[in-house]
Amino acid sequence: MINDSLQHQGMRRKLVEIVAGKGITSEPVLKAIGKVPRHLFMESGFIKFAYKDQAFPIGVGQTISQPYTVAFQTQLLQVLPKEKILEVGTGSGYQAAVLLEMGVQVFTIERQRELFVRVQQLLPDIGYHPRFFFGDGYKGLPTYGPFDGIVVTAGAPYVPDELKQQLKIGARLVIPVSEGEHQVMTVVERVGENEFDEKQYGMFSFVPLLKGTN
Ligand code: SAH
Repeated sequence: MINDSLQHQGMRRKLVEIVAGKGITSEPVLKAIGKVPRHLFMESGFIKFAYKDQAFPIGVGQTISQPYTVAFQTQLLQVLPKEKILEVGTGSGYQAAVLLEMGVQVFTIERQRELFVRVQQLLPDIGYHPRFFFGDGYKGLPTYGPFDGIVVTAGAPYVPDELKQQLKIGARLVIPVSEGEHQVMTVVERVGENEFDEKQYGMFSFVPLLKGTN
């Protein structure tokens, strides 16, 4: 039985208003934020922080992303139901759950063994079923691609070519690219076999996209 009380639902409605107030306009994205029980992604001692629009530590030096940031990246992805989406950086599984609420198929990669093990237990328990992979997200998932969209949820020093090559034509890669301490939200659209269009959407703050596995 999932513990999602009326109080949690009320706090979640407020969170949706906050995120909308910060400029998220996509109805499907706002609806998904309104559905995912974010408090279940945090250790119980921190539940009162679950519906604040803030990132939060989830152990092993990692964070559950800020809801606004998740909404912003999801809005930039422009997903449609049934599409095949790759997420790099499973972390808490919150972003994956938001995408699943939008009716897409999610393939998600994590490089930290501890987080990978934990999330594989948590997500199915609360009704979310992405396909989980342990590995280095710089490489993507060449055998499962090409994808209708790719979202990277850690700050990358550059846009990995492997990920660009796993986009279908017309598909988008949403990736925060480091510039000093912070990252520029970047959308790379594959407009042709060898043609990519790049746009930038403001500064964000992510944990780093690291190489290899741990
Ligand atoms: N999407 C997550 C955000 C977690 S923070 C959420 O909604 O909670 C970023 C995550 O990316 C961390 O879990 C980190 O371990 C992972 N990560 C960092 N570098 C990676 C890489 N090269 N491949 C896969 N995951 C990576």
